[in-house]
Amino acid sequence: MSDNDNKLKKDQIFNIIAYFLITASILFSILLLANNSMIVNFFNDSENKSFDYRQSLLVKHRHLKPSSDIVIVAIDDGSYEYILDKYGEWPISRSVYANIIERIEQDKPKAVIFDLMFVKSFKTNPAADSLLSSTMNKYNNIYTAINFDNQSADVRIPVSLPDRLAVKLENNSKNVDLEGNFGFSNCRTILDSIINSNTKVGMINISRSQDGIIRQVPVFAHYNGKYYPHMTLLAGTTLLNNGISLSEYKIDSHSNLIAGESKIPLTNTGEVVLNWYGASMRTYKNIPFHKLIKSINGDKSIEKYNFNNKIVFIGTTASSLFDTKSVPIDKIYPGVELHATYMNNLLDNSFIKKSANSTNAVIIFLLVLTVSFIVFKSSSAIFATTSTVLLAAAYYLSAYYVMSLYNIWIEVVVPLFVILITFAISYLAKYLLKSRDFEHQYKLATTDGLTELYNHRYFQDTLKKQIDTSRRYEQEFSLIIIDIDFFKKFNDTYGHQVGDAVLRTVAQILKKNTRATDYVCRYGGEEMSIILPQTSKNEATIHAQRICEEVAKTPLKVSNNTECNITISLGVSSFPQDGETPQKIIECADKALYYAKEHGRNQVGK
Ligand code: GH3
Ligand code: MG
Ligand code: MG
Repeated sequence: MSDNDNKLKKDQIFNIIAYFLITASILFSILLLANNSMIVNFFNDSENKSFDYRQSLLVKHRHLKPSSDIVIVAIDDGSYEYILDKYGEWPISRSVYANIIERIEQDKPKAVIFDLMFVKSFKTNPAADSLLSSTMNKYNNIYTAINFDNQSADVRIPVSLPDRLAVKLENNSKNVDLEGNFGFSNCRTILDSIINSNTKVGMINISRSQDGIIRQVPVFAHYNGKYYPHMTLLAGTTLLNNGISLSEYKIDSHSNLIAGESKIPLTNTGEVVLNWYGASMRTYKNIPFHKLIKSINGDKSIEKYNFNNKIVFIGTTASSLFDTKSVPIDKIYPGVELHATYMNNLLDNSFIKKSANSTNAVIIFLLVLTVSFIVFKSSSAIFATTSTVLLAAAYYLSAYYVMSLYNIWIEVVVPLFVILITFAISYLAKYLLKSRDFEHQYKLATTDGLTELYNHRYFQDTLKKQIDTSRRYEQEFSLIIIDIDFFKKFNDTYGHQVGDAVLRTVAQILKKNTRATDYVCRYGGEEMSIILPQTSKNEATIHAQRICEEVAKTPLKVSNNTECNITISLGVSSFPQDGETPQKIIECADKALYYAKEHGRNQVGK
């Protein structure tokens, strides 16, 4: 392998390292920019939207089968109208709920879960309230809700809740923060008769993403130094634990909530990401509240509902009651169906797990590597672009299938952005490398390796061009041919290595003593030539004379402590007076050089 090849290889390795450093620094700057909240929000929002899109597609293809055990008794728009007609008020007397409990419990359901809060109110009837709480207390599978908030103590004095509502929790995860978003200073309490009975009570706080869509639901609220489980978590884990409520939960070091036999992936904010089963009203059996009341009242035209072994949610779905939320698969989704979905995720253990930061980093690294490889290795731009687009599409598709098969949410927005950026940087880098490579090749093809003067071929080409140009513009130009005197002897005395060094020195002297517009070439062996555009024979001769003197007086180092001098002989010829073809002009200069050799060397021949 020649020196030049080695140099090229080294250059390329250097360039590739430089390229990676540039890519890394650009990605790093993006990461730094990622501290800018607007950019973070943009990426988060887009990622959330991509999640919604995946979920909507998955729901269409029914990747999860909804549980037929879940039934919703829905206070829908029809029921609301019926209630206003029949009872003349909303909320209705709580004795109605007591009747409903008795009716459902006849069928031995698995659980009856109220997504309703029976708050204290002067408007309610104390007798009906106490009927409801005593009915609830008769059964051990009734659940109802409380809600925590940060209301100021002037408005509402924070209550102390009985110990039975709280659970023990051991958090071994460094990432999960249960108090950041779900630590509360106040609580909207419900009837004392419920709080102080055996009825199971859980919190129903929710949190929305920035765009107002609910994608995740908390597992615990932190209040007065204790943890209160979400109502659906409480009901679901009790069902999974053969009807015995869990009093202890643990979060492992990998951010999984250990609830009895279940291992539930949590977000850093202490929430579960819901995996959706289907559209509102069409996924779970919905029983309109008013129809159930009619059937309790003996209306034979209503189908006979059977709640045996069902998990019954009771809540509002009426748009006029404002308990509608936006979720990934539906703009309007009632809160009670959100709980049903939470329950279904618990039963199937199908919560969505977000990919870890370390996984995301590995994915990004591999994508950068792949895209830059594609760009660097492909010879056609169309191929590189197509491959990169295909890679992006394949990545997106894999993200979809990973969610479908493993319930894992791998990020797509940042990785797709990285693919784009890497593609652009790689192309830029490739282009720069190519142009450098071209320059290098051009230099290799036109210069002489030893002296770094133009080579013989370049000399011939330039001479031809110079003749054409000078003829076209009717100008003159000159040629000087140089031959080192007694160089054979010099080589024999000092060796070829020293000879080579001397050749280089002479080349330097020539370059230093010519104009930037002159072409200094190595003609061959120890002969050199200079093409001097727009220079008369007279001027060129003076010039040659000066070079001759300059070489003669320059001491040359031949060993550590020996210096010597060499001389050169020169011949000058000019266009058009000495000829109009390259051959003629060279021949003429050669003749003059021969003359100089014949007449004592170290001179410009005539
Ligand atoms: P003259 O004064 O008549 O020119 O004598 P000379 O010895 O220089 O004769 P000539 O020009 O014919 O000799 C050419 C010599 O130059 C032969 C060779 O040893 C030497 N030479 C040619 N190319 C190279 C080179 O690349 N490196 C070295 N070290 N010597 C070279
Ligand atoms: Mg010679
Ligand atoms: Mg010679």
